[in-house]
Parts: sequence; structure tokens; C-alpha cells
Amino acid sequence: MANMSLKKNEMPTQAPDVRRQNFNEVALGYTAEQAIDEAKRCLNCKNMPCVSGCPVKIHIPEFIQEVAKGNFEEAYQIIARASSLPAVCGRVCPQEKQCESKCVRGIKGESVGIGRLERFVADYHNASSTDKPEPVAKNGHKVAVIGSGPAGLTCASDLAKKGYEVTVFEALHLAGGVLVYGIPEFRLPKAIVQKEIDGLVALGVKIETNTVVGRSISIDELMSEEGFEAVFIGTGAGLPKFMGIKGENLLGVYSANEFLTRINLMKAYREDSTTPIQRARRVAVVGGGNVAMDSARCARRLGAEVHIIYRRGMEELPARKEEIEHAIEEGIIFDTLTNPIEILGYHNPDDKRDPQNGRVTGIKCIKMELGEPDASGRRKPIEVENSEFVIDLDCVIMALGTSPNPLIKDTTPSLEVGPRGGIVANEQGVTSKDGVFAGGDAVTGSATVILAMGAGKASANAIDEYIKNKK
Ligand SMILES: Cc1cc2nc3c(=O)[nH]c(=O)nc-3n(C[C@H](O)[C@H](O)[C@H](O)COP(=O)(O)OP(=O)(O)OC[C@H]3O[C@@H](n4cnc5c(N)ncnc54)[C@H](O)[C@@H]3O)c2cc1C
Repeated sequence: MANMSLKKNEMPTQAPDVRRQNFNEVALGYTAEQAIDEAKRCLNCKNMPCVSGCPVKIHIPEFIQEVAKGNFEEAYQIIARASSLPAVCGRVCPQEKQCESKCVRGIKGESVGIGRLERFVADYHNASSTDKPEPVAKNGHKVAVIGSGPAGLTCASDLAKKGYEVTVFEALHLAGGVLVYGIPEFRLPKAIVQKEIDGLVALGVKIETNTVVGRSISIDELMSEEGFEAVFIGTGAGLPKFMGIKGENLLGVYSANEFLTRINLMKAYREDSTTPIQRARRVAVVGGGNVAMDSARCARRLGAEVHIIYRRGMEELPARKEEIEHAIEEGIIFDTLTNPIEILGYHNPDDKRDPQNGRVTGIKCIKMELGEPDASGRRKPIEVENSEFVIDLDCVIMALGTSPNPLIKDTTPSLEVGPRGGIVANEQGVTSKDGVFAGGDAVTGSATVILAMGAGKASANAIDEYIKNKK
């Protein structure tokens, strides 16, 4: 019988006062009973509006019907036909803006918890399946994938399944891209990403870490000297933006990327960690997106009082609603309608060797009010006269967005790049350079995991066509 409850089954979570002291996953996942009960809320609509909201077109009602019958592995197989990272997407996809925003149940109540069901099904499969990927006969063609984020991993996986010899080149010492260095453990356990990478290796994909393409080797060298017939660029958008205000070079000012990398990749939160991250007393995170929420919640777990400084209001915060709610529950303070104008530091002119010299001591801000909508459609923040004030603190994290790193462009002649630094590529990932394809954040600028995966998939198909037609 259909479940006509207007509300989703609640996601069990760690209590806020417990979780703000650890890095374990916040959301604990549905039980089988909760998953079946939630699946029964799906009306199995004939025209499947939810599928139109899914960038990789998972057959959502079909998998949910299997969950409702308790056929969890069948449900997994339906998802796996369209998505190679369901345990990741079930956790971090902005479903409220995608599939769930189209759900008919959302008209008079809450939409079906599609993301929560996807996560349940993927976790069930991972816990119960011992399947090893079937070895695929090699077709003798070599493809290089640059970057091991969701775009690169998806492209590599699809090509390996088609028989290509794939090598992934990754600049960092661990594969996974933002999934491992950006998104914190408490939202996406790293073991889940590692399992996906182990699956790729079992398929025969080689992963060369600590290799910065453009420094260690160029794209032209990969193609002319190493025998790669095609290259996929999935290098993301890891170059942080700053405000350009005074004091941004003081000690204790981080970009969100650096701060999160130190915590996620270098485990700054563990007792045995040797990472030099500073355990701050009071932290300001400047920005209002998901990256700002992740940085704030990490700093909170390291014991600091944390302020989010955002120039618009609570309504305009671009982060996922769930992340904002979790941040509030964990005690993050939101200083909205506030803009930093200077970062203040300590200077002791009498003792140049004073270790406090050059350290952050505070942030000078100005109050804002909202005016008429600007080009983005959001109300424009305007400074309120004579409203300056100082927040005393010892760490500032800038979470103002990122753009693609220019290294690949600078070392690859004839690769066309747009005005914002993104590689110019069509929907199949075809770039201006023969045999070179690109997708994910490297093309679009900072976007989402599922869009990066979709781009990796499209490019894998295009590369397959390209190499077949060349023969
Ligand atoms: C903190 C944070 C939180 C986020 N939260 C969410 C979320 O909740 N939901 C969501 O959908 N999206 C989220 N995003 C966005 C999402 O993670 C990205 O859109 C997605 O990871 C882009 O995938 P990608 O494969 O294009 O690039 P990336 O994941 O950035 O991977 C690119 C990889 O390429 C490597 N690389 C770069 N240059 C080179 C080079 N020259 N040579 C070799 N390797 C190179 C990098 O080291 C990196 O590993 C978040 C992003 C951040 C930073």
C-alpha cells in the first residue's frame, strides 16, 4: 500500500553536541524498514518528472519500486546502469535542486527522499556484494586521463569497460579529487571513494599519483612520446579566489582549499597528525556556499568558535539547505549582511623576532543592506555608512569560489580557453585540440559532482568514437 505521509522518513543523524567533536559521518543512513517505507511514498508517475531532473538520467521510479519490494540489489543494478558513483551521489548531490525538485509529492508536502534511497541502496550493495569487476579484453588503444576527480574517474571507468588501456595522472598523492581533498569525512567517508578507486584499479586502470601534467610531462608529450591516442582533461577548478583586501597575506589566513586539504588529506584533526594546521580559538569563514559550510564545520570540530561572514542575508545563502541547518545545529554563528574590508594583524616594531608578528588578530567588517536585484537576479548588497566593526579572531578562511588552474592552458598550445579560464569544450567534451577532450569543473568552473560525472561519461563515449573513426 502507498505511504501517503506528507513528510519524508527522517534521516537518522549523530546528535549535534556529539558530532561537533568528531569527524565521523553525520547522517547515519536509513534502515531497511525506513527505506521500504520511504520508497512506498513514490507514486511511480508514468511521465517520471524526477528523471528529467537527474543529470545522468537514473531510472528513479524503477529503482524505487524495487526498494519498496525489498529487492535492494536489483535496485542497485538499475542505478548502476546510469551512475558509477551512487554511494557518493546519494550523499552529496544537491537532490533538492535536481530530481527531488521535480517530484510530484513535493507539491503538497515533502518530495520522496530519492537521495536517501540512493545512498541506502549503494551502501547495501557495498556491504553485501563481493563482486569483482569482470576483466575486459583490451583493445590495444591507450588513453590518458588527467585528474582523478569524479569527471576523470567516470571517464576512466567507462573507457576501461570498453577495453581501453587507461592511465590516470593525478597531481596529488591520493586519487579522488575534491571527493577526498575537499568534501570532509563527516559528509563523505573517504573509504567510500577508495572503494570506487579500488574498483577502477581492478578493471586495469593505472593511477599515477604525484604527477602534475604541465610540469612533470605535457599533453603533447603524452600524445607524441607516450603513445596515448586521446587525452581527457578533468583537472577541476582548484585555483582559489581572494577578495583583494589588506591583510590577506597574514599568518592564519587560508584559502578554503588549503584549509580543507590539510584537514582531509593530511588528517589535521587526528592526535597523531603532524600537519602544521593551527588550532584556532576563533575563526571567520568568508563566503556562504557549500565550501564555506564545510570549512566552518571542520574548524568547529577542531574546537574553534566559528563565524560565517556573508554579505547577503540567510535567505540568499547559496549552500545546500541541509548543510546550513547542520551548521546551525553545530553552533556556527552566521554574521550575515556583513562584508570584510580588512584583515588585521599583530606587529611588534620593537622585536622583529616576536613569533606573533604578522599573525591575524581580527577582521574589520562593514554592515550591508540589500538593494535592487543585480544581473544575477539576487538583491545587491550595499554598504551601510559608518557601520564598521571588528571581530577579534586568530584565523580567517576565504571560501569565495575557485577557478580552473591555468597550468594546462599555459603548457598546451592550441587549447582554447574561455574568459573565465575554463577549457572550451562542447557537450561531448571535444576541445579545439585534436584528440584532446575535457569535462567537469575544468570546463564549467566550480559545479557539482554529478555534472562532472556526466561530462566524464559523455567524453568517454566521444573518445571511443574518435579512436574508432581514426582506425
Ligand atoms: C569543499 C567542497 C565541497 C563541495 N561539496 C559538493 C557537494 O556537496 N555536492 C556536489 O555535487 N558538489 C560539491 N562540490 C563540487 C564538486 O566537488 C566538484 O564540482 C567536482 O568535484 C568536480 O569534479 P572534477 O572531476 O571536474 O574535478 P575535481 O574533483 O576538482 O578533480 C580534479 C583533479 O585533478 C587534479 N589535477 C589538477 N590539475 C592537475 C594537473 N595539472 N595534473 C594532474 N592532476 C591535476 C586535482 O588534484 C584533482 O584531484 C564541492 C566542492 C568543494 C571544493
